[in-house]
Amino acid sequence: MKLSIIVPCYNEEEMVSIFYDTIIEELKKIKINYELIFVNDGSKDKTLDELRKICKKNKKVYVIDLSRNFNKEAAMLAGLEYSTGDYVVVMDADLQDPPNLLREMIKILDTKEYDSVATYRINRKGEPPIRTFFARSFYKLINKMTKVEIVDGARDYRMMTRSMVDSLLKLQEYHRFSKGLFVWVGFKTKYLGYENIERPAGKTKWSFWKLFSYAIEGIVSFTTFPLRIATFSGILISLIAFIYLLYIFVNTLFYGNPVAGWASLACIILFLGGIQLLSIGIIGEYLARTYGEVKRRPVYIIKEVINDDKKN
Ligand code: UDP
Ligand code: MG
Repeated sequence: MKLSIIVPCYNEEEMVSIFYDTIIEELKKIKINYELIFVNDGSKDKTLDELRKICKKNKKVYVIDLSRNFNKEAAMLAGLEYSTGDYVVVMDADLQDPPNLLREMIKILDTKEYDSVATYRINRKGEPPIRTFFARSFYKLINKMTKVEIVDGARDYRMMTRSMVDSLLKLQEYHRFSKGLFVWVGFKTKYLGYENIERPAGKTKWSFWKLFSYAIEGIVSFTTFPLRIATFSGILISLIAFIYLLYIFVNTLFYGNPVAGWASLACIILFLGGIQLLSIGIIGEYLARTYGEVKRRPVYIIKEVINDDKKN
């Protein structure tokens, strides 16, 4: 029985050695065979040097060095593809995913009742309230619009069986929204909740805009519902326009009042202009994704694997 631990790292020079020490301590307690796969996602600081040092100490540590920063989704995929364990877990390097849950996760998978153990934060302590508000709204929206149920506060911290990982790897899409993909592949998942833990060092890589486009990515990846909105608003506005047209027609013909409502005209033009731009934008989002997919570029490029002993 082997556990693969995948850790995507981007500019985590302060965290990797702290993370390594903590996880090794935990693994010693659990007494399980393991492989630790760090994916260096094009860090611009000394993360790679730190990782090299760890590799020298421990042959069970592998480092996949990507050729540039691809994003966490790509880094996770690189790790998943490289992993060979019977159980596979994805963890952040910043210790916000508590390693002491590993033992419980393994126990749950050992019962064979579940194929995956996922985690979510039960609170968002230490996060700006405005971000919490938007995050909450996002989960409500995506769960209303799509068929995949994503738990509010779901983390990427999740342990899966080999068969679930293999299914995930069959999804070769370029625009990856893992939180949704994990749910999409099905399998039985148990959710564990834990209190939010603040980063011991370094800082979050997520700016507000990055999160915003991630949210759009999530919605566009899993539903074409927004396109429907464009269709529906088109139908609705056409109907209203038709009724209004009749009204103007009658008004002019029978009551002879040809020049009326400059203000209403201006409103109508602006409103329609807005709706049209919005609809084009929505179509554009889907078209751009389609363009991205048909190019069939690889999701990530590996520069080097340190400690590599697997024949790929
Ligand atoms: N990460 C990555 N590539 C990126 C951004 C982040 O591999 O482009 C890694 C990062 O090093 C960390 C994990 O993804 O291990 C989560 O990032 P972060 O802690 O910044 O996110 P948060 O916990 O704030 O959601
Ligand atoms: Mg974090």
